[in-house]
Amino acid sequence: MVLTNINFITFIGCLVLTITAFPSNKKKLNWQGSDVLNEVPLIDGHNDLPYNLYNIENNMLNNFELDSDLKSNPKWNVSSSFTDLPRLRQGKLGGQFWVAYVSCNRNYKDAVERTIEQIDVIKRLIDKYPKDLMYVTEADQIMEAHRQGKIASMIEIEGGHSLDSRLSSLRIFYELGVRCMTITHNCNIPWADNNQVDNNVSTPKRNLTEWGKNVILEMNRLGMIADISHVSEGVMVDVLATSKAPVIFSHSSVYNIKPHSRNVKDHVLQKLKQNNGVIMINFYSAYIANDTATIYDVINHINYVKNFIGVDYVGIGSDYDGVTRMPIGLEDVSKYPKIFDLLAEEGHDWEPWTEEELKKLAGLNLIRVFKQVEAIRDSLIDEEIIDQPIPYEDVFTANPNVTQCWTDLDKYKPVVNRFIEEFLPAEIA
Ligand SMILES: [Zn+2]
Repeated sequence: MVLTNINFITFIGCLVLTITAFPSNKKKLNWQGSDVLNEVPLIDGHNDLPYNLYNIENNMLNNFELDSDLKSNPKWNVSSSFTDLPRLRQGKLGGQFWVAYVSCNRNYKDAVERTIEQIDVIKRLIDKYPKDLMYVTEADQIMEAHRQGKIASMIEIEGGHSLDSRLSSLRIFYELGVRCMTITHNCNIPWADNNQVDNNVSTPKRNLTEWGKNVILEMNRLGMIADISHVSEGVMVDVLATSKAPVIFSHSSVYNIKPHSRNVKDHVLQKLKQNNGVIMINFYSAYIANDTATIYDVINHINYVKNFIGVDYVGIGSDYDGVTRMPIGLEDVSKYPKIFDLLAEEGHDWEPWTEEELKKLAGLNLIRVFKQVEAIRDSLIDEEIIDQPIPYEDVFTANPNVTQCWTDLDKYKPVVNRFIEEFLPAEIA
């Protein structure tokens, strides 16, 4: 190309403009997606470290050091351990729902007591590291913790079996600081089905029972986030139809990419969008691809949700310490920033994420849900407490052996019969 004088002047002009603009271009080139984690907290919906504390330390914390390299601690050399403070700091984590999980084999047994123990150990862990962890029970405190350079630490119960079908347990757990409850784990409870009922079409489904709806409404009234990871497809739909507040999947991924009953189908994702909730993507290799899964498989699930229902409804729910195999590139809690760096990069088969979009994924979406749950709670201030006990038939049908576990099962029989048949004669005597 031959440059005329005018073209040459224009060319020089453009060159000058380009050079003038270079500093900001350079800044942009140096910008990394994970830089957003300095401005907004990265909130993970699900970490089972407290269950490891139970299994490995029997919940004794005096000689336990979360601020050490747990990888080099022989006791903690187990396949489900991915978390310690040095790595959480490297991973730029800003908020965590710590899970007070007790096994489904406690269902109908000592689940309530065991859950209290797990809540206690989470609180003691937070107290032990006041420079790193901040106990949080309100949405606004998450940003405050971030401003102070601490990890906002919320408590979540995993599985309605922790309530032993009593709304009193739910209310007291709220008072103990629990702000989120997964409706089931991998076991049915008298008022809701878990995901495994979907693995066999002939399995009878109860979905969310009429009384189960009371649990969701009481969670709305209290201001506790309902989490529909682990529940059956029918329960997902029922909770989304019942809840007055947004709900979350604290650790689930996309069924259309990896068909697994723990993952979420497209029609449910659409309902989640209508509900203004958020799905926090699980990293577990078996839920996102297979044993050879990589960080790109997790990104695939994240991008799917963004493209299908929008960037306002996706978050991170790793499931670290709750599973035994994590993808290549996400080997432990130090690796979160790589997700954000990759999402923002040019040259992949996805549209690079903007700063605003990355902030939503990191934590702003979850904070929005948490605030809306609180707003609904405040709007229900005049609502009466739900004091309806679970029907006798619901408990008895779910587990005929419950007679051995519930010393007061008779009190759940219809009131008129109980009064006439049992108490009246004794009181007269
Ligand atoms: Zn789980």
